[in-house]
Amino acid sequence: MVALQEKVSHFTHLQCSQCDKVYPADEVISYASCERCGKNPLCTMYDHLEGITPADIDSKERSMWRYFSLLPVFDRKNIVSLGEGFTPILPLERLAKKLDVEHLFLKDESLNPTGSFKARGMSMAISKAKELGISRCIVPTAGNAGGAMSAYCAKAGIQALVVMPEHTPEVFKKECLLYGAELVLERGLISDCAKRVVQINKDLSYFDISTLKEPYRLEGKKTMGYEIAEQMEWNLPDVILYPTGGGTGLIGMWKAFREMIEMGWITTRLPRMIAVQAENCQPIVETWLGNQKDSKSYVGKATFANGLAVPNPFGEQMILKVLTESNGKPVSVSEMEITTNMREIAQCEGLLVAPEGAALWGALKKLVAENFISRDEKILLLNTGSGYKYLENLA
Ligand SMILES: *Cc1c(COP(=O)(O)O)cnc(C)c1O
Ligand SMILES: [Zn+2]
Repeated sequence: MVALQEKVSHFTHLQCSQCDKVYPADEVISYASCERCGKNPLCTMYDHLEGITPADIDSKERSMWRYFSLLPVFDRKNIVSLGEGFTPILPLERLAKKLDVEHLFLKDESLNPTGSFKARGMSMAISKAKELGISRCIVPTAGNAGGAMSAYCAKAGIQALVVMPEHTPEVFKKECLLYGAELVLERGLISDCAKRVVQINKDLSYFDISTLKEPYRLEGKKTMGYEIAEQMEWNLPDVILYPTGGGTGLIGMWKAFREMIEMGWITTRLPRMIAVQAENCQPIVETWLGNQKDSKSYVGKATFANGLAVPNPFGEQMILKVLTESNGKPVSVSEMEITTNMREIAQCEGLLVAPEGAALWGALKKLVAENFISRDEKILLLNTGSGYKYLENLA
């Protein structure tokens, strides 16, 4: 347990995202969601944000930990870092010309440890796990989260168990094993892996790092929002396209923007947030269109973009709220488009992005064609991972 006098972060408590019930900051929350209103994610809350300025950014630290004062780790000695975050924002000049748009950028998360932005969430989650004295972690994954958790657990000396769909490309399985994790393969999608995790963890001997059932991964993803603002000199893009599975990146960036408004760091209008999904698994699109009340019984299919194969996102209400508040919306892209998009980005820009990231380009074309995005707007594609891990599935 962390002694409060060691506290250097502004983290004060956790709070339910739906009913506002408060939970203490220094306890292991093992029930994985709000116990009062049922299954709703908990959010990390801070006090005295208004006193923090951009001068508090640790500008010598070239990782996401430069925002330490806005993160939930109390003691720096508990940070488990492999150099995650602080990724570049690249102009996509040739693609912009092709589509006839003026300002097109890509934040390249493929450069993170283990090749995806999952590193941010896992660096944060495993740092907090270390701070809370946890020795065993478990996670259901569509691929990248498993590798990232395994790597950070290795670094922290924490035991890791990963449950992954058996159809996932070999690279995703091998990296977990190389990092020393135990790997369980499951038939089906991440939702089936999640059920298996509950089964394996009946006695709660593992700490469950599932998306949004563990509150701190979100805080790691939040750092993308801070970086975008800082790198764009506090003038946010007009639109951000984000490949949405469980939605932590989308929710995390929005949380960062809200915190920066509270601190007075940004005063301009916030970006419209676009949740991009694969047609094979598009629960958010279906709910948005009113084809279902929610995603709880949505049945999805596997997709080349593994990370988007999340049929029943636990944080659905939070995702929908971001889309509504930002005047954004969800869009989906077919398997064929994703493959074509991946090649097009590689050939025009020299970037081998993950299929999830490639889907953003297909979505952008649609949104420009229907005038949802105009040609003079500042557009940011958030590429979440590296294409190298998926090549086995590329025909
Ligand atoms: C996990 C993942 C996603 C989806 O992220 P969420 O936070 O679950 O929405 C997108 N792209 C890649 C490469 C991923 O690994
Ligand atoms: Zn609640």
